[in-house]
Amino acid sequence: MNQVPAPAAAAQTDVLIVGAGPTGLTLAAALAAQGVATVVIDAQAEGANTSRAAVVHARTLEVVEPLGVSDRLVALGLQAGRFTIRDRDRILVPIEFGGLPSRYPYTLMVSQAVTESVLLERARELGVVVRRPCALVTSSQDEEGVVATLSDGSQVRARFLVGADGMHSLVREQAGIGFDGGTYGESFVLADVRLEANEAVPRREVILFFSPAGLVVVAPLPDGVHRIVATVEDAPEQPNAAYVQALLDTRGPQAARAVVREVLWGSRFRVHHRVAQAYRNRRVVLVGDAAHVHSPAGGQGMNVGMQDAIALAEALIPALAGDDAALDAYEARRRPVAQQVVTLADRLTRMATAPRALRGLRNLLLSMLARVPNFRRTLAWRLSGLVYR
Ligand SMILES: Cc1cc2nc3c(=O)[nH]c(=O)nc-3n(C[C@H](O)[C@H](O)[C@H](O)COP(=O)(O)OP(=O)(O)OC[C@H]3O[C@@H](n4cnc5c(N)ncnc54)[C@H](O)[C@@H]3O)c2cc1C
Repeated sequence: MNQVPAPAAAAQTDVLIVGAGPTGLTLAAALAAQGVATVVIDAQAEGANTSRAAVVHARTLEVVEPLGVSDRLVALGLQAGRFTIRDRDRILVPIEFGGLPSRYPYTLMVSQAVTESVLLERARELGVVVRRPCALVTSSQDEEGVVATLSDGSQVRARFLVGADGMHSLVREQAGIGFDGGTYGESFVLADVRLEANEAVPRREVILFFSPAGLVVVAPLPDGVHRIVATVEDAPEQPNAAYVQALLDTRGPQAARAVVREVLWGSRFRVHHRVAQAYRNRRVVLVGDAAHVHSPAGGQGMNVGMQDAIALAEALIPALAGDDAALDAYEARRRPVAQQVVTLADRLTRMATAPRALRGLRNLLLSMLARVPNFRRTLAWRLSGLVYR
């Protein structure tokens, strides 16, 4: 980055946060709770109202509890105590969250739009103002801080700049930090649907169906909605009810049919697996999807981002008092977590998308492993995030 002096008119703050997604909002609330001055900007006129992440794990609820958001989220979500991997009707791996040593022994099912609105509400109560639509255009840094030029023509001088600006992070790019990894060949289709009420799909369970035709995930959301995610060669832009029904008929439960009544929202996406080469370039720090992206298998993305944000807030407090080493400790603590999550999501994705010829063997191996209590327990600890305490 170039050394550019700040003009006299630049607004001053301690931390400039670029991006008001779940990660940026968590960080803003956590810093505001400690009395740190922040400026938060987001390029979009308003928050996205699509569901995307549907899962908040136990560890995430634990780390945001001091901010006063966990009880609000719990009140709005659905508690799923069980996660199973099935081959049509046969349970290959049952994972119970009920025995986890946490105040939150379950997976909380709630749409990302609701999670973001709870975080925004709390951040506002703590005095955070989100400037939007307002994009970062350029930034430069010197020994004292960072100067950012914004799309409304104004400038902000901050002691630290945080890139919470998602997978295509401009902050990461301008800081010259590489984003290593790749992209999966298959695409994912995603739909929020209403199903006929019957015994085909238990209401408080997240199910990964591994079938010869491929993966389909059926996960409950509040208000009688189910999230369906499937891997397909070439996903349609807008999956309709017939398309989702065919996925469930060929991959989902057989003894009792899961019948789609209505598709509320649908989308498709390609999945990348990447981790930033570094989380920091002097006074510029990365957090959330700007630092790591991976498959949605295991529902980890937003969760890791929110946990990063709490760890970064804890590191920025000493860094603002002159102890920059705290930011190195943040990277040393959180980058390995991202690498482990990318590996877990990658294993689940590769298992789910195994070539047809290997799927029988995969199912046999999984059902054998599932008989080992330690295997089931380890998976529950990793999925819930409690292993990263
Ligand atoms: C289809 C789908 C399904 C998913 N399912 C799950 C799941 O089940 N579980 C899970 O945990 N995760 C899931 N994820 C991932 C989850 O949505 C992301 O991990 C999460 O949104 C990351 O949050 P973030 O705040 O880091 O980034 P984002 O949510 O991407 O937010 C970044 C923000 O930065 C803003 N921004 C970007 N550039 C600029 C700029 N130059 N200036 C100002 N603002 C800028 C954007 O407008 C945006 O609001 C899913 C994602 C998708 C797409």
